[in-house]
Amino acid sequence: MAENEHEVTPEASTPLSEQENGSRDVWFFVAHRDGKLEEACLKLAMEARKLADKLGGEALAVIIGKQVKHLPGNLGDYGTDKAVVVEDQHLEVYSGEAYVDVLAQLVESSRPSILLIAASTIGNDLAPRLTARLKASLVTRYTEIEVDKEGKVTARRAVHGGNAQATVRALRKPLIATIDTQLLGLQKAKEAKNTRIAEAKIRIDPKTGITRVIDYLKADPCAVCVSEAEIVIGIGKGLGSVENLAAVDELAHVLGASIGGSRRATDEHWVADERRIGMTGKTISPSLYLICGISGAFHHTLSIKESQLKVVVNTDPNAPIAKMADLMIVGDMQKVIPELTKQLREIVRPTR
Ligand SMILES: Cc1cc2nc3c(=O)[nH]c(=O)nc-3n(C[C@H](O)[C@H](O)[C@H](O)COP(=O)(O)OP(=O)(O)OC[C@H]3O[C@@H](n4cnc5c(N)ncnc54)[C@H](O)[C@@H]3O)c2cc1C
Repeated sequence: MAENEHEVTPEASTPLSEQENGSRDVWFFVAHRDGKLEEACLKLAMEARKLADKLGGEALAVIIGKQVKHLPGNLGDYGTDKAVVVEDQHLEVYSGEAYVDVLAQLVESSRPSILLIAASTIGNDLAPRLTARLKASLVTRYTEIEVDKEGKVTARRAVHGGNAQATVRALRKPLIATIDTQLLGLQKAKEAKNTRIAEAKIRIDPKTGITRVIDYLKADPCAVCVSEAEIVIGIGKGLGSVENLAAVDELAHVLGASIGGSRRATDEHWVADERRIGMTGKTISPSLYLICGISGAFHHTLSIKESQLKVVVNTDPNAPIAKMADLMIVGDMQKVIPELTKQLREIVRPTR
């Protein structure tokens, strides 16, 4: 149902100081690519529904872009009550300045309790800019949001490398909260909603932007961050020594894979710290995770659950990681990896 009910102009916005009692709604920012919603948005929709139920408000999606009216499509299955759509040719690609401008005007006029943003490249740029503009509260990479009987909102986030949890109280509305959506499973709402669509008219002045995206370059799949990669090779203590890395690197280039590692592998400096996978590192969700010489401590497996196909190479058939494996090759990774590379070379084109 299209419902052109949401007209926002800069003049209509309300100063934040008057927002103490704002709405109980929970908003989420919808990222999209190539005319499609990213899965992360469905997870945010789910999270927004859960929080809106706790607060007694509505779950609302904000979609910004050039032609995005069709995007709310299946958000109703994830409990979204309403989608506010802002279309403008100047919003075709993400620009921090323009998107913050649009979101700030929407938030100021409707005063939600919480605005959820995925902790993605765009989200990590958008959230702090918007918080500064609105003088709102910000919590990054939260793990849980709680609402007390009086409707006060607190969030939890891991600190000190995952060894402690901080509880953060939102002193100003809205609470802008980023979350690592890879930590969330995907499940449809118990009760589907017929998402209302509202078009917001916001004046965009293309001249105000001081930066502009002029081109996108496709990343080398081996160089992308493990949390974004389609294929990941994880290496652990079983690698034995740094000399054995060359064979793993070769396999990575045949597969177009990004290399990550367990904490033992990063402690040995075989893999850079920012490529650590696990509780104190990155969460991954590739279509293939090739797990070599990693035992399967829960600190590691916690962050690999969303990997679609888990293939394990380990000398120990009883290593804990075996319980998670879709496929296991019991053997010495120093022998298995070169053999895999040889056989795969015949069926896939190497990336170099
Ligand atoms: C607070 C805290 C946070 C932590 N955070 C993380 C984290 O974020 N990520 C993380 O990974 N760990 C983390 N850890 C460490 C974690 O508990 C484990 O110690 C670590 O994951 C083990 O790494 P590993 O599997 O590489 O090594 P090991 O446990 O030593 O396992 C090596 C595996 O390699 C196999 N192997 C040996 N030789 C070969 C061979 N030639 N070929 C094939 N297989 C072979 C062995 O059978 C074994 O299964 C954390 C620990 C703590 C206390």
